[in-house]
Amino acid sequence: MNEGQKNLPTKEIFSTARQTVALQTRLVLGGEALNPNKINLGKITPEQLSEIKPTTIVKINQASTKERLDYWKDKGTFDQQLKSWCDSMVRYYNDPRFTEKEALKLYHHYFGENKGESNINIYADEIIANFTQNEKINFDQLNQNLPEIKKRANIFGGNSAEIIEDLILARVKLTDPAKKQELIEQVNEEKTIDNSPTLRLNYLNSEEKMSLRWLFNEKPIVVTTPPSPQPEPPEPKPPVLNPWENIPKPKQPIIIHAGKVERDAQGRRTRENAEVKLILGTAEYPLVTENKWSDGRIEKVRTTSPERPYHIPAVVYFDEDINDEQRRLINQAVGWTLSQIGVPKEFIIVSDRSASEFFSRLHPSVKRNNQYDASLLLYSFSQDRDQIEHPHHAIVFTNKDLYTSDTNFVVGAAQDDLGTVISLHRFWNSVPDTDLRNEVVKTEISHEIGHVFGLPSNRRGENNIENSLGPHCKNDGCCMKQGLRVPDDWIKYTRDRLDNLGRHHYCQDCQTDLQEKFKKK
Ligand SMILES: [Zn+2]
Ligand SMILES: [Zn+2]
Repeated sequence: MNEGQKNLPTKEIFSTARQTVALQTRLVLGGEALNPNKINLGKITPEQLSEIKPTTIVKINQASTKERLDYWKDKGTFDQQLKSWCDSMVRYYNDPRFTEKEALKLYHHYFGENKGESNINIYADEIIANFTQNEKINFDQLNQNLPEIKKRANIFGGNSAEIIEDLILARVKLTDPAKKQELIEQVNEEKTIDNSPTLRLNYLNSEEKMSLRWLFNEKPIVVTTPPSPQPEPPEPKPPVLNPWENIPKPKQPIIIHAGKVERDAQGRRTRENAEVKLILGTAEYPLVTENKWSDGRIEKVRTTSPERPYHIPAVVYFDEDINDEQRRLINQAVGWTLSQIGVPKEFIIVSDRSASEFFSRLHPSVKRNNQYDASLLLYSFSQDRDQIEHPHHAIVFTNKDLYTSDTNFVVGAAQDDLGTVISLHRFWNSVPDTDLRNEVVKTEISHEIGHVFGLPSNRRGENNIENSLGPHCKNDGCCMKQGLRVPDDWIKYTRDRLDNLGRHHYCQDCQTDLQEKFKKK
């Protein structure tokens, strides 16, 4: 259909005229295709687009290095330049945790130890890895983050930042057969221009021409932004920083509990306390400890605390049976829920490990027909070795049916401060209206994640709390109500939620619980 064409200037005869598909394709082809004056390239075949040609990477790195050198020319000695670069990075991040030392690390990471040559592929690799799950690119998330990705790429220079965006897009399109096919069709589109047939590949728009001229001539044509980060207002933290570095940590490990053996009157050993050394977290709310028992045995332990007043990363695991539609809904719902709780964006991570790992660790004997024991799954999260190196809230999604020993089935289960397993099995095909079903799933996700953050809190006493399969909130419209009849109760609560609270999933009491929890430090 051609609905959009009426509004386009008549010159834009290609539907992709405003996109940079020709530039992306030429970056893949490398060599002569980088020459903006070369406008007689032939039709593209899938074989030609296997990976970015090394000549492209070399050219981009050379152009970026030159751009940076030009910018720093006449700006003092190398050491002075480096100091001023680090200072501007610290101002750019505007975050007490991002110190001059961090800036220096970043410099060496992207520009090597001595020569200061740009290595743009490191950056592209990191971005792509960041948006890859189970070897598949999350295009929605990547597209949403492009402005931030481009902005951060300014450390390679303003022109370089422009082209890195297209380099990344070209690379990810090659990994997805459908996207690759779409790109080929777009650049092979043919129109008659000035009486001669012309391919989109040879019809470069002004942005594409500018980038290719800059790249091919290795000199800046138009420098739109200085090739160094400008001190700018604070932005959401970049996704590639390591969130675990932001968790409270003692300067050196400290003993928070001295171990001792307790004996009765006869001298028999009644109790043994381990010597507990704090590795990560605070003394009051430890996260990872090293426990030394009197027999010399040492073990590292991920400790849980429902009232933990500081954030730790939330890691989302998908089972292999979760489809793309579900995944999109889940990503959106988890993001929205955690933002209501106040979890920083960079603390939300989608794991490249499959949730089926957790299921396959369960002993076959605890499988009930086709149901899996949710309590044992939660226990297996606590035993996961990654909880020591990268302690997190595990948020696991599956289509498998779950049960606990005292139920026919459960839609999910959660353990304070450790994680939750959420099954879509009982909702996905039982709620007839798709929009409503999606809202019900969102209620379920907010409910289980709420439990991970200690909702409803003990602090509330009996106030609007009931106990059915654990404490639950009684307030109408709150996602923390217990729904014993599935899916009917959940549909009703979801309608109440949409009526009463609008976008908020947690009632005022539950929101207060969260505020109190994160208030104490
Ligand atoms: Zn519950
Ligand atoms: Zn509530």
